[in-house]
Amino acid sequence: MVDLIKKAAAALKESKFNVVFTGAGVSVESGIPPFRGATGLWSKYDPKVLDLDYFHDYPDDAWFYIREIFYDFFGKARPNEAHRVIARMEQEGLLKCVITQNIDNLHQEAGSKVVYEFHGNSQILVCPKCGNKIPVGKVDLKTIPPRCNHDGTVLKPDFIFFGEGIPEAAYLNSFEAARNAEVFMIIGTTGEVMPASIVPQEAKRRGALIIEINPEKSLYTNDITDIYLPGKAGEVMTEIEKYLF
Ligand code: NAD
Repeated sequence: MVDLIKKAAAALKESKFNVVFTGAGVSVESGIPPFRGATGLWSKYDPKVLDLDYFHDYPDDAWFYIREIFYDFFGKARPNEAHRVIARMEQEGLLKCVITQNIDNLHQEAGSKVVYEFHGNSQILVCPKCGNKIPVGKVDLKTIPPRCNHDGTVLKPDFIFFGEGIPEAAYLNSFEAARNAEVFMIIGTTGEVMPASIVPQEAKRRGALIIEINPEKSLYTNDITDIYLPGKAGEVMTEIEKYLF
């Protein structure tokens, strides 16, 4: 494993365009479970609470669960070592951007500046009618559902529900970064969520070296990954950090 860590660090140092692509696994060491698997969120909650039609038809019920999952629970999470090393890579000129499927804002909290959020962000609420955006910290979630202070419409978290499209800027920026990447790191994702799952394939197609960190093999591992580092994101990233700076 040490040889592979050194090889990954050397590739990152030599490359002029590094990109990191993250999924739920990068936040597991912060205490946020992934969606899938035995301990995943969908083993406890019904995914319908994130269905757009259900949200509009039953906002009280949907918001009861959304508050519990994304604000009472996710809200307490703090960045872990993986988020920290990724932010440091950007600060030291070794990373162009993070593309994340996560909605937990932990990359930004760790200090990352260029973050393309493929699925939006839970820390902003948006009015589906007038487009008004409000930081969740300014909304009293003791009373649900929260409403827009302009027109009274039920506010929605500014992340993607089932049935919604990808935010255009994040989509375009992510694919452009993938096309330009010399080294593309995939951290903590199964590769099962479309269309985000295509982004690493685009990087590979354009010739990027693919480094992957995940304790379990993903759909990418035997398909496009060049250097597979089995392990937890925080632990592996702190090992890579030793040879990076
Ligand atoms: P997923 O739930 O499908 O898969 C998580 C992956 O993380 C698995 O491959 C697993 O082996 C790996 N993993 C588990 N622990 C890890 C660790 N310590 N270090 C590295 N990897 C680890 O997640 P996904 O592929 O990202 O897809 C689910 C979608 O749900 C995402 O697109 C995301 O939008 C959303 N989601 C977000 C959060 C969050 O914001 N933190 C949490 C859950 C789900």
